[in-house]
Amino acid sequence: MTILPRSVRLLPARGAVLAAFLACASLPAAAQAGGRTPTRAQAPAAPRWGMVIHGGAGTLTRDAMTPEREAAYRAGLAQALQAGYAVLERGGSSLDAVQAAINVMEDSPLFNAGRGAVFTHEGKNELDAAIMDGRTMGAGAVAGVHHIKNPINLAREVMEHSPHVLLTGQGAEEFALERGMPLVPESYFYVESRWQGLQRAIDDERRKAAAGDTTHDPHAMYSVPDERKFGTVGAVALDRAGNLAAGTSTGGTTNKRWGRVGDAPIIGAGTYASNGSCGVSATGTGEYFIRWTVAHDICALVQYRGMTVQAAADEVVMHKLVQAGGDGGIITMDPQGNWALVFNTTGMYRGHVGADGRVEVAIFKDQPLAPASTATAPR
Ligand code: ASP
Repeated sequence: MTILPRSVRLLPARGAVLAAFLACASLPAAAQAGGRTPTRAQAPAAPRWGMVIHGGAGTLTRDAMTPEREAAYRAGLAQALQAGYAVLERGGSSLDAVQAAINVMEDSPLFNAGRGAVFTHEGKNELDAAIMDGRTMGAGAVAGVHHIKNPINLAREVMEHSPHVLLTGQGAEEFALERGMPLVPESYFYVESRWQGLQRAIDDERRKAAAGDTTHDPHAMYSVPDERKFGTVGAVALDRAGNLAAGTSTGGTTNKRWGRVGDAPIIGAGTYASNGSCGVSATGTGEYFIRWTVAHDICALVQYRGMTVQAAADEVVMHKLVQAGGDGGIITMDPQGNWALVFNTTGMYRGHVGADGRVEVAIFKDQPLAPASTATAPR
C-alpha cells in the first residue's frame, strides 16, 4: 500500500488529492519543493552540480597576512572543496557533500569551527552548527555544545534521528551519546592563537570599561582588530539529482558569554536551503544576520521576486545589511547551479568547485577565484 503523508490522508477530496500528489511526485525535485511548475515543455537542462564554501569573512587585509598563512588557508579551502567534490562526483547527495567539506574545515585549526573554535569569556569552546536539506526542508541544528568534534555531524543526527530541529548544550550532548557519537575532551579544542585572541579581547573590554564604555553593542565582540574576522565555515551544494543542501558550523564569537548563540544554527538566519529557491550559508555579525533573517531573505527574493541568487544576495548583504550595520558575507547556490559569493567586508575565505572538478579559491575582496594547491594545509 502506498503510504501517503498525513496531511494528504486527512483531506476529503481523496481522488483529486491523490492524483495531484502522484503528479507532483513525478516532477523534478526542484519543481516540487518550490511548488513551481516547469514553464518549458522540453526537459530542463541538467543542473550544473557543484559546491560553494566559505571559511569566514571579516577584515582580511594583505598586510596582516603572511604568504605562508595565505597558502595554508587556500590549501584548507581547496581540501574542503575536494572532499565535497568527491562525494558529488560519485553521485552522492548534496547533504553528504556539505558535511564532508565542513568536516575538513572543522578538523583544521585555521577556521573558527570544530578544532579551531574561538573561546568564550569563561575560556570554553561553545560550538553551534546547522544543516538543511533543500529537497525535504528537513533541518537539524545544535547550539552551545562543548564536546562534539564535528558539530555539523550532530546537526545532521538531529535532523534525521530526532523529532526536533534545534538541540542545545548538555541535552544535545546526551542525544549525541544516544546516537553513538563519541564526545571529545575540551582540551581537543585548545589552539594557542585562539586563547591569545581571548586574552586580547578581555584586555580590550577592560580598557573600555575603565574608560566608562560598557555598551553591549554586538560589534563590541568583534572590536579587537585581530578578531575582526569570522572564521565560521559553511557549504552549499547541488548534487546530480538536482537537490540543494546547506550547512554552517562555528565557534561563534571570541569572548561571548551568557550562552550567546549566533546565526549559524538558526534556520533562515545563517543557514537555509530549499529546492524551490536556493541554499545559503552565512558568516558575520550574527546578531544582525538573525534579525534580518539573511539566509531566508535571500531565498525569498529568489522565489517570490524571481531574482538571481547574485542580485538577491547583493540586495540583502550589500544594501540591507550595510544600512543596518551588519558585517559579513554569504555563499549561495540555486537549483540550476547558479552561485554567488557576496560579502561586505574586505575579505571572505571562499571557493567553488563545479562538475569539471576545477577547484578555485580566494580570500581578499579584489582577488578573483583561482586554483589552489592542497600541499600546505596544516593538520
Ligand atoms: N556568524 C557567527 C556568529 O555570529 C560568527 C562568524 O561568522 O564567525 O556566531
